[in-house]
Amino acid sequence: MINIKSLIYLLIILVIIGLLYSCYHYRVKDKNENFKTNKVYEIPNQLTSHTAKALVLSCMDFRLIDDEVYYFNKIGYTNNYDKFVLAGASLGYNQTSFPEWKQSFNKHIELAIQLHQIDEIIVLEHMGCGAYKILYNNNSLSKDEEFKLHKLNANKFKQYINSKFPTLKVSALIMDLNGSVIQL
Ligand SMILES: [Zn+2]
Repeated sequence: MINIKSLIYLLIILVIIGLLYSCYHYRVKDKNENFKTNKVYEIPNQLTSHTAKALVLSCMDFRLIDDEVYYFNKIGYTNNYDKFVLAGASLGYNQTSFPEWKQSFNKHIELAIQLHQIDEIIVLEHMGCGAYKILYNNNSLSKDEEFKLHKLNANKFKQYINSKFPTLKVSALIMDLNGSVIQL
């Protein structure tokens, strides 16, 4: 039979586990702390809004989907951007093995302008990208090498979009696997 003392111990253990779990959860949710701002952004009404600020191009990688949404919410883009995915983000656009990837994205830029009057393209790269290993045929890219290639591709992407769609603002970001983001 369980006595009162063991029951109290059990309750204490459960409370400690609960506290540890909520601390962990809070840390994970708050890992983009550097983007915290006191600014209050207006969130478009999903039922009535017809315009969006931007079209975001990012990689397909499943690991960063929540971090991307979290990041864009933090910087005030909640429900205010169209989304397009190409493996490798800017590299997916620049590469020539699959020319239809670039054509498809260009067409979606035109649609995003026509349908939602976007005035900005944001390309979001990420570190540890499998597309870089495959498309550069190099399984052992160092972090430095990979970063330089992201920068190279993002710049090429920016130049191309600037010349093809001169009215659009273009910016490039890169996310680390812990969800933190810097400008490229
Ligand atoms: Zn990737």
